[in-house]
Amino acid sequence: MIKLNFVIKFIIAFLFLSNSAVSQTIKKIKTIIVDAGHGGKDFGARGAYEGGLNSNEKDITLQISNKLVAELQKQLPDVKIIPTRTTDIYQNPREKATIANENKGDLFICIHADAVKLQTGRRQTGYHQETRYHVKYAGKGRKRKKTSTPYTVTVPTYEYYKIGSQRSGTSIWLFAAHKTSDKLKAVMDNEDIQIGSGADSAYNDIDFDTPEGRIRAKIYADRYQKKSIKLATMVDEEIDKTDRPALGLNQRQKGIWVLQATNMPAILIETGFITNHDDERYLNSEKGQQELAETIARAVKKYKDEIDHTLPAPIQKIIDYPTNTPEKYADRTKNILKRIDLNQPDFKVDLYDDGDVDGDIVSVYYNGKAVLTNIKLTDQPITLNLSLDPDKTENELLIYAENEGDIPPNTALMVVTEGNTRTEVRVISDTKKNGVILFTKK
Ligand SMILES: [Zn+2]
Repeated sequence: MIKLNFVIKFIIAFLFLSNSAVSQTIKKIKTIIVDAGHGGKDFGARGAYEGGLNSNEKDITLQISNKLVAELQKQLPDVKIIPTRTTDIYQNPREKATIANENKGDLFICIHADAVKLQTGRRQTGYHQETRYHVKYAGKGRKRKKTSTPYTVTVPTYEYYKIGSQRSGTSIWLFAAHKTSDKLKAVMDNEDIQIGSGADSAYNDIDFDTPEGRIRAKIYADRYQKKSIKLATMVDEEIDKTDRPALGLNQRQKGIWVLQATNMPAILIETGFITNHDDERYLNSEKGQQELAETIARAVKKYKDEIDHTLPAPIQKIIDYPTNTPEKYADRTKNILKRIDLNQPDFKVDLYDDGDVDGDIVSVYYNGKAVLTNIKLTDQPITLNLSLDPDKTENELLIYAENEGDIPPNTALMVVTEGNTRTEVRVISDTKKNGVILFTKK
């Protein structure tokens, strides 16, 4: 029989796993890629209509992108913002996608301007003279003769022109993943196909020219679909607060290859219609470009705040741990990583693998007692509900590295929650040092 005082009960929480073949990571937004659509010899659309500015899409996208990059750097100083281009250079979509993937972007935002096929109008500008001929035939058979007599007529002169489009506003595009494809389903069920979590390099090895490559790319697109939709919705909502029309979210497969080819949530923003009189002027103005940059940046900031603070809802399960675990941590030094002052005696600690999920295994001791033994860290939280010992001035939480994973050292992300306050600590431990966090009562 185990007496109750020999047992400490801890609540271990596991993330509820969706039945999707690919698990969602809780990776934070650290890098954002901004792509100015087109460039160089690829001019994109053109404002060529009567009363138009003859502006080129590639210039507008670059100017808005440069402003968006500056705005994001201002609003999100901790995030790396990487533009695909800052000058008028040509890049094919593959190069753009490679820049995004190699920089391990967490978000990919493409800036474009929309265009519609324009109708041709005509108007009379005056009159001009035209020469026509009266034709007469005389005689019969072989003697039949044709005579043409010229005469002059006055006819209207017309001028033809392109009519600017009525349609204006901002729309957001997503890559449409083929969810119903039987072939895709078969591939997703095949465990031999590796879909690493987070920043894996596998994506860059995909050959998009093969059917298999395209299917794998679709898996990525599918995997990020939810997040892409979330960001797109937020951008649309922010646009809606401006004076210009928010045209909503759209999905297509053709023409937005670059969205499919990026290993991260991705959206394409058609900022406005270069073929519309007012939109084209707005897109070319400092004021318009700045308003778009600020509007998009606001939506990105909201998205980041939400993603960064969304932790999966745990399912709780009570596990009993004996307290007589040998204190093997004693022969390693203690590396005190942080002191956290708490207002209340009860607090919660969530443990994740930080960065790459590479098989880090830890044991955890609280005030010298083993609370977790040989636990593998993943992107799903392991939750400890702990209390401050009223007899101690300092309460010690110690992380002992059982291994160093595939990528040394052993890194854990610890999220401490007390009421509404969250504190994050990156815990590094290795074969010589234990990672220690001290908790004290305020
Ligand atoms: Zn475009």
